[in-house]
Amino acid sequence: MIILEKNSKITVFGGTGLLGSAIVKRLKAKGYQNIDSISSKEINLLEKKEVEEYLKNQQPDQLFMVAGHVGGIYSNMKRGADFLYKNTTMALNVFESIKNYSKNTKILFTGSTCIYPKENPQPINEDRFLAGKLEKTNIGYAIAKITGIIASELYTKQYGLKTIAVMPTNLYGPNDNYDLENGHMIPGLIKKFYDAKQNNNTITLWGSGKPRREALFSEDCADVCIYLMKNYDGSEIINIGTGFDYSITEFADKIKKVLDFEPKIEWDTSKPDGTFEKRTDITRLKKIMPEYKPRSFEEGLKIVLEYDF
Ligand code: GDP
Repeated sequence: MIILEKNSKITVFGGTGLLGSAIVKRLKAKGYQNIDSISSKEINLLEKKEVEEYLKNQQPDQLFMVAGHVGGIYSNMKRGADFLYKNTTMALNVFESIKNYSKNTKILFTGSTCIYPKENPQPINEDRFLAGKLEKTNIGYAIAKITGIIASELYTKQYGLKTIAVMPTNLYGPNDNYDLENGHMIPGLIKKFYDAKQNNNTITLWGSGKPRREALFSEDCADVCIYLMKNYDGSEIINIGTGFDYSITEFADKIKKVLDFEPKIEWDTSKPDGTFEKRTDITRLKKIMPEYKPRSFEEGLKIVLEYDF
């Protein structure tokens, strides 16, 4: 067991992203002092030499590998090749460089629940990994994440690296990406409703409104990542979900209530629905971290509205 000490040398790749910034914030709040938060401006993880150089020089005790090229359903569909190339390359550059230059570093690799097949008995448990055909709208991203998970497994087996791999569900939180075309559903909905309340205009949402999604507050996910870095060394992948999901229409209703504003909603059914449902089974996580209790969507939403708007 690797101990995450208060003075451990901790690196967060992707430290300015949604999850990365939450991990840095929560680490600081918990009293960790030696944190190196790395964004793509400092190190381009697509350039292997830069990754090698950093790891050779820094030799962190722990590495949160939460960097990625991310986006919502529309962006994934339009730029699938970029999602595949960038996320695969970043992940492999990190594992290979750790193997060559910093073998004692423990890595937490974040996959995603989109690695699971398109159709599953609900909730989805971790044994569904590689059990069926993937959803097409984000297949590039999913395959890249699958490669990262397999890399985590194989580099551990062949080279004795210390790795764990977690599968976060759909996240939202402070410092999110509110780009309406390229971002995810939850920040997109929040921004559309917020702007409509200021300008009193009609909102256009995508698809049928029927698909179901979870929504996990980024800092709740960060707390789990830190806890697992400290307390888990197993080879099994772990879902970080909420265990409860809502349809897109239900999310819209919840945002309406919190904002106390009822706009006219139009549905653009030319936009895809994507996966119909992907509620996670969090039994495995709860066994390791019995106190895990993600906050409600309404609670997280109020924090986001205060912080980002
Ligand atoms: P996914 O969870 O990987 O599919 O990605 P998203 O977070 O982008 O969620 C996509 C789902 O939300 C699809 O069913 C979309 O049709 C639906 N949706 C409804 N309105 C929006 C919107 O304004 N933005 C996005 N990104 N998705 C929306």
